[in-house]
This record gives sequence, C-alpha cells and structure tokens, in this order.
Amino acid sequence: MDSHLWPTPVQNVKNINKHTILDLIRFTPGGISRVDIARRMQLSRAAITAIVNDLLATGIIREAERRLGHSGRPPIVLEINPTRGYVIGIDFGATHLNLLAADISARILEELEVEIEIQAGPEACLEEANRRVHELLKKAQLNFKDVLAIGVGVPGPTFTEEGMVVAPPIMPGWDRYPIRDSLQKLWGLPVSVNNDAELGAIGEWAYGAGRGERNLVYIKIGTGIGAGLLMDGKIYHGVTGSAGEIGHLTIDENGPVCACGNHGCLEALAGGHAIALQAQQAVQKGLRTQLTNIQPVEKITARDVSLAAQKGDLVSQQILTQAGSYIGIALAGLVNMFNPGMVIIGGGVAQTGDILLEPMRQTVQRRSLPAATRVVRITTAMLGRQSSSMGAVIQALTMALHQVADRKEVLTAQTARQTSLVITS
Ligand SMILES: [Zn+2]
Repeated sequence: MDSHLWPTPVQNVKNINKHTILDLIRFTPGGISRVDIARRMQLSRAAITAIVNDLLATGIIREAERRLGHSGRPPIVLEINPTRGYVIGIDFGATHLNLLAADISARILEELEVEIEIQAGPEACLEEANRRVHELLKKAQLNFKDVLAIGVGVPGPTFTEEGMVVAPPIMPGWDRYPIRDSLQKLWGLPVSVNNDAELGAIGEWAYGAGRGERNLVYIKIGTGIGAGLLMDGKIYHGVTGSAGEIGHLTIDENGPVCACGNHGCLEALAGGHAIALQAQQAVQKGLRTQLTNIQPVEKITARDVSLAAQKGDLVSQQILTQAGSYIGIALAGLVNMFNPGMVIIGGGVAQTGDILLEPMRQTVQRRSLPAATRVVRITTAMLGRQSSSMGAVIQALTMALHQVADRKEVLTAQTARQTSLVITS
C-alpha cells in the first residue's frame, strides 16, 4: 500500500512539472508570474510557457493583473480560474457536521454546521450528510451538476487508499464500512476520505496558521484527540493510516478507562468527553461554578466549560489547565520525536486559547529537548472550527484540478481516484 505522490500515474517529467506548477499557482497568495515559476523550479522560460499554455487550455487557470500600489504596467500573474467549477468539504465530528462549499480557487461560498451523533452509524450519518449537501448548495445557489469533487473528513484512523476507517474508537459501527465507495456511488463524483486531524494540518498549512511551514503538527481536540503530521511537506499516514493517534498514548496507566478499552489514555484524561465529565462531577460535588446554571448536569459539554473558563470561571479554568498539562506531556514526546516547527491546536476546545495553551507550552518546555523546543511554536488554529473542512475542500480540489489538468475534460465519477496532497513549494 504505497501512498502515491500524485493523483494520477505520472508518465513523464513534463507531467510532474505540470502538477508542480499547478500547485505553485494554487498555493501562492495573489497568484504567481511565469518568471517566478521559472525561478522557483529552475526551468527555462520556454519549458514553463509550454506547460502553462497546456493548463490555460483546460480553463482551470487564467491570467490576471497583479494590483500594485505604484503606477506602471502591472505584472501578469497566473491564478486558478474560480468560475470553472465548485467543490464541497465535509468534516464529520463525533457530534457535529461541518460543510463548506467553495469555488475551485478555494474561496468559501457557504457554510453549514449541524449537530449529529456519529454513533448513529454510517447509513444514518451519510444520509444526513447527503441531505445537508443539498441544503448547502441551495443556500449557495449552486447546482449539484457544477460540483466537481467532494472531500470528507472522519474522526478515526483512516485507510485513505480504501476510503474507510479501521477500528475507530469513537465511531462504533463504522469499522471498514465503504464510506468513499458508497458516497461515490450516491453522488457520481470523485470522493476522498481522510482523517480529520490530517485534514486540519492541510487546511492550516494552506490557508491558516501554518502557511509556509513544511513541518507541522495539528492537534484536534474534539470528543477525541488526534494529530495530523505534516513532515517535510507531506502528510505522514503510517502503514494503515493510524499515525498521529496521540489520543491513545498512555499518560497514566492507572487512569480512567478510554473508549479504546485501555486505561489512562490522553483522550480519557483530556478529550472533550473527559472535560465534560470532570465538569459534571465538579457540579455534583457542589463546587462553586457558573456551570451549575446548566441543567440537567449531564448536559454540560466541553464547549460550555471552554466558554465559562473564558468568562473567568475558576473551576472551568482548572479543568482546562489540567487538560492542557496532560496534552503537553503527549506533545513533549511528539516534539522530541518529530522536531516540528509548529504545533497548531484546533477543534472546539482550542477556542479557549491561552488557558489551555499556556500549560501545554510550559510542559513542552520542561519535558522536550532544548534543540527541539527552541524552534517549536505552539499556537491555536487560525481557521477555528473550519480547519478540517477546509482541508477536505483542499483534497477535493486536488482531485478535481489535477484530473482536469491531465485529461483536459470535465470530471466524471469513472475518473475518480484517490489522491494524497503533496506540497512542492
Ligand atoms: Zn484510548
């Protein structure tokens, strides 16, 4: 199961260069000129011109004038042609579904977020996703026939090549369910399925806090905790897609039982579910906290704890500080092992900011090697709750753009192929 570098079989050097140029155009803010492409790729102007002409003929890129402050002839840059079609990104959380509609230049046109229960199983959840896709398109005043591809994120270890999850702790009933194949059949479109934390890393790298950083870790703190690893500009999946499952690192071997069956996993101590549980217990013990206002007590969520902490609630702050320290222990190991330039904290709980991040930074500082801690920045996700759905949009675009570039034709479901993003700049 080797993960391939490009979405389509690479026949020759010109083809490799074409995809590299397409990605340079996609991920350079404000577009890029032919001269800059030639310099970045160390190729001749003539070679660049030939490939750019090919891409222009497909209609997925176009020429534009770069606006400058001063007078004089503005330089011509190449950019993605946003009118050529649309894609959708969907992020399944344990308790929510986030959908984005974007044009092929990755500009978000419409968003939808609804509550779901991932535990309801694949049939019910995919049916709900389908209903919401049509609702989203209606909101955006788009037709389904103009959608080129759909990217999907799921909160479990994902076998991307097969489009399914394998033994996912917080997704009972989803083990090896053919998510991608069912959706491709339903929609007649190319569909990709990736782990949500990996998508968060891609989203933040492309359009968020991690721009230009080729070595970054994105930690998603939702009901569970997972990490997306971008190493040397490429997502690291592991052999069976379960790399980055830091939620199941053992922090305390005598700790509480985890959804995976083990004791004292990070997720069982500091995941969204654990945070909510600790808050409920604090209220039941009669501690003074704003959370007492939420009735019945079982209704208290990690989000409530996060909001109360931001309003100065001490009990909520203590719970999150403790969670931050536990996450910091796992992070210190990760920093020692991977030496990333940046760690980006995302997911619902991350909106709490420094109350959660400071104990993390301190723990990493204390427990990682100086050579690694000197360079690593720990920060919150810039795209907020949209990091993973934005990553799903980018995966959908990778499928759509590279296939159009290769075939010079509009996509059909028959041409659908699994892709994995490679960052070339
Ligand atoms: Zn576990």
